[in-house]
Amino acid sequence: MAERSWSFSKAFRNIFSGPELITDETWDDLETALITADFGPDVTDSILDALRADVERHRVTEVAEMRRMLRDAIEERLAAYDPTLRLSERPAVILVVGVNGVGKTTTIGKFAKYLTAFDKRVLVGAADTFRAAAVEQLATWADRAGVDIVKPQQAGQDPASVAFQTVQRAIDADYEIAIIDTAGRLQTKGGLMDELGKVRRVIEKQAPVSEVLLVLDATTGQNGLAQAEAFIQHAGVTGLVLTKLDGSAKGGFVLSVQEKTGLPVKLIGQGEGIGDLTGFTPHVFAQQLIG
Ligand code: GDP
Repeated sequence: MAERSWSFSKAFRNIFSGPELITDETWDDLETALITADFGPDVTDSILDALRADVERHRVTEVAEMRRMLRDAIEERLAAYDPTLRLSERPAVILVVGVNGVGKTTTIGKFAKYLTAFDKRVLVGAADTFRAAAVEQLATWADRAGVDIVKPQQAGQDPASVAFQTVQRAIDADYEIAIIDTAGRLQTKGGLMDELGKVRRVIEKQAPVSEVLLVLDATTGQNGLAQAEAFIQHAGVTGLVLTKLDGSAKGGFVLSVQEKTGLPVKLIGQGEGIGDLTGFTPHVFAQQLIG
């Protein structure tokens, strides 16, 4: 992952560039920084409690040492979830789900490009057939990524039939990975979950679904998670993609989202460009967060 000075590490940097010895103020500032970074109240409390206990046990007095302990503790908690993508099936079918606007289409474009860098033959399927613009937007991204696309033959075609055709073509033409876009209209939650269920059942007649990736916008933090609850409960999600971490002051969301959902973060989006998607590495992330 490229070295970036993300805005969410600023609050921590301020603490750690202050006085060298730990004071009550250090603890107050740390609590504020954790809350500001969107770790959420529960995770913040548990991090602080564990850190306090460690600091007392080892009689730590220096802020620099406390910082190292904090970074290690966050890395250890981040690493409790396995970020490995399951891509071994052939084709590996990946469903991408999430609420409109979170960056789903952009993520699919970036992900397709990311996979081609590993010499994978990738096909994308435009099964968000409800909005014509969504299909065109995905086609533009497929073009940018240099991968093929299966589009609906007519507007409003059944999403499950587009998904079916995508997997069929992936099998027939020996693509290694099929990434399928799905609808994200929140207004019709029940209908949407039924639709996703049907898409899945139809795909599974031909091939297992390797991953169901839920895309979340990190800038909406805890609120965005509430919106995505229905997907977590009904769509068989296997992993999370967090987008917009580039402009976000909310890097702590990565940890709280894993612990709240029990799902691993598998990819992170850090910009609008085609190269701005990476795998998730707890060590690097903890380093960037805490400095
Ligand atoms: P969809 O409705 O979920 O398919 O969302 P889109 O893919 O159309 O993205 C919505 C907006 O978010 C677009 O303006 C994207 O450029 C932007 N976006 C997506 N991912 C990222 C990211 O990682 N960082 C930033 N800064 N913007 C992003």
